[in-house]
Amino acid sequence: MAAANGAVAVTAANPSRLSAKPVVVAGAGISGAAACVTLARQGLSVVWLAPEPATPRKPGESLAAAAGPLLESLGAAGILDKPAHRRMETSFSSWGSDALLERSAIASRGGLGTAIDRSAFEADLRDLAAEAGCRVVCAELADFARSQSGWVLRTGDGQELDAGVLVDATGRSAFVGRRMTTMHRRDRLVAAVAFLQQVETDVDPTPATVMEAVQDGWWYASLLANGSLAVNYYTDPDLLARGLTRDVEAWKRLIAESRYISRWIATGGFGVAQAPHLASAGSTWLERAAGPGWIAVGDAAAAFDPLSAHGMTTALWTGIEAAKAIKRARDGETAALDAYSARVTAGVERFLADQIGIYGREVRFRKNTFWSRRVVPNLKAKPGASSVDEDRSVA
Ligand SMILES: Cc1cc2nc3c(=O)[nH]c(=O)nc-3n(C[C@H](O)[C@H](O)[C@H](O)COP(=O)(O)OP(=O)(O)OC[C@H]3O[C@@H](n4cnc5c(N)ncnc54)[C@H](O)[C@@H]3O)c2cc1C
Repeated sequence: MAAANGAVAVTAANPSRLSAKPVVVAGAGISGAAACVTLARQGLSVVWLAPEPATPRKPGESLAAAAGPLLESLGAAGILDKPAHRRMETSFSSWGSDALLERSAIASRGGLGTAIDRSAFEADLRDLAAEAGCRVVCAELADFARSQSGWVLRTGDGQELDAGVLVDATGRSAFVGRRMTTMHRRDRLVAAVAFLQQVETDVDPTPATVMEAVQDGWWYASLLANGSLAVNYYTDPDLLARGLTRDVEAWKRLIAESRYISRWIATGGFGVAQAPHLASAGSTWLERAAGPGWIAVGDAAAAFDPLSAHGMTTALWTGIEAAKAIKRARDGETAALDAYSARVTAGVERFLADQIGIYGREVRFRKNTFWSRRVVPNLKAKPGASSVDEDRSVA
């Protein structure tokens, strides 16, 4: 098992062909589900380490239109038609100017996407993976080490499993990946997350999403199909009021500082009854997304600032593509995992360039700490560059 310092004990030469033992996928989010479905449909034996979803409720509701074809390839296109989800028709943003600009689905190529009920969406993907023939083990991956023909794994409840390939779908914790390679971090963005309920039910709130840049960060709010309003405030940890997660009055004051979000909350009849919870939302990525016998998908491979609005789509894409790469590697294509890793790295490079461009468009607050941190040269690092934080680990 892993040594105390996190190093993985390599007990066998790295196989160039992948062992025929089961593929074990650790992590029950969107990327893990997409990997499991695709692996099982290709005829591979799959074990899914899928611990019960953690509380509190996961943030992230805006599923980009680009997810449509990926869901279709999983045979799951129909799940977005359920009443739990709402096709997004309109979005508003105040970014770079005090005006609130409107975008409509009709004017956008491919549409604006879907405001999903995240729990229902993930539950449907989990069912799909079980139907595809994965063996589901409701336990977390607690430890792993190389064996003669792959890996020996230990679960949180003490089971021992053999694996030919290990898929890291553990989200931002990158439980496997961060022990196998270097994890890079661009920033420490944090989100204050709340779901507001309507208290004045005689009002029909506008079915929309609203994005608003403010002095110390930005807001994103989305009306969900069940009538609740998902509200996220993004900033840096040192710019956030201390004790916010226990102080509903401080949360109300923060909301009141926004121009449009506060207005939407008030005119939509929403109550602010509880303080928010916090979620990490910074951009992190692994130096490489795969190595001999392991591969990382979703946020474990690369977690993007939610500004990208593509985290869930990337989770689907990487899950599917990693599964295909594993199959090709099993069939003898020795460079298949490296090729997948290179595609992920190219995606990270595109995201990092786009991120600077989008933050750079907000010129009103350039002198404020939050915004100046996002345009200064030391943030222009590329994957593999050393000017970003690194969570170093073993190769
Ligand atoms: C505040 C916020 C807002 C966001 N908004 C959006 C949005 O609007 N649109 C969008 O597309 N994306 C959004 N995202 C990003 C999106 O949520 C992620 O990209 C997506 O959840 C990644 O899916 P995943 O399956 O890779 O990881 P996760 O969803 O994090 O799932 C990982 C799973 O692995 C499990 N796990 C962890 N450790 C272990 C272990 N050792 N063994 C087994 N299992 C383990 C966890 O319990 C979890 O269930 C947002 C993210 C944040 C933080």
